[in-house]
Amino acid sequence: RKEVAFGRAQCEHVTFAYEEEVILKDYSIALEKGRITGIHGKSGSGKSTLLKLFMRFWDVQQGQVLISGKNVKEINTANLREMESYVTQETYLFHDSVENNIKVAKPDATREEVIKAAKKASLHSFIESLPKGYDTPVGELGDTLSGGERQRIGIARAFLHNAPFLMLDEPTSNLDSLNEGIILKALQEECREKTVVLVSHRQSTMNIADKVYKMENGRLS
Ligand code: ATP
Ligand code: MG
Repeated sequence: RKEVAFGRAQCEHVTFAYEEEVILKDYSIALEKGRITGIHGKSGSGKSTLLKLFMRFWDVQQGQVLISGKNVKEINTANLREMESYVTQETYLFHDSVENNIKVAKPDATREEVIKAAKKASLHSFIESLPKGYDTPVGELGDTLSGGERQRIGIARAFLHNAPFLMLDEPTSNLDSLNEGIILKALQEECREKTVVLVSHRQSTMNIADKVYKMENGRLS
């Protein structure tokens, strides 16, 4: 029934290859609403690829990818982007203000909403310390933003977007344990109403997952 599938994200017997090398083979997984599903596994095992399939960056060769019971091929791209927040391994920044960099997925957000998201991402006091605060151009900061600051901008984006499906790819890999702790706590609170998949190598990060899968040779174990 429809209500049961609502909020669930699934891969059903998915086989996917970029070219001839098969990354996922007859792969099935179900992400449930209100749960954090952890994925770990060695570099190159296909973790990021799995998240990209949920967002239909690529089409699968066999099987199907479902969001709330609907095949992603049948969901229009704009709607799919609206339903899913994606925190990538590397946060891409635009030559614009810090505020607008946080607002990319929700351009009509108010300053108050941006601040709330930045606080959850443990970023607010850093932004306030910048010469022009939220209006500071990221371009002027150039390469002076640390990996962890960039990463927290990526996380603040996702908090602000507030989509029902949250795809997190090593979201705290560049953070110290203090900042990671603040963000993981915020994530846990946030996630009660969301469907979350969390890719990480770190045990401290995986501790917040309700269930952890290991990716190995295109299969789960
Ligand atoms: P890491 O822990 O290093 O981030 P990962 O588990 O996320 O690794 P993926 O990025 O999913 O791994 O990559 C899985 C495999 O697919 C790797 O062998 C990678 O080289 C390959 N791959 C990834 N993206 C592409 C692409 N666009 N075209 C061709 N091959 C790709
Ligand atoms: Mg990856």
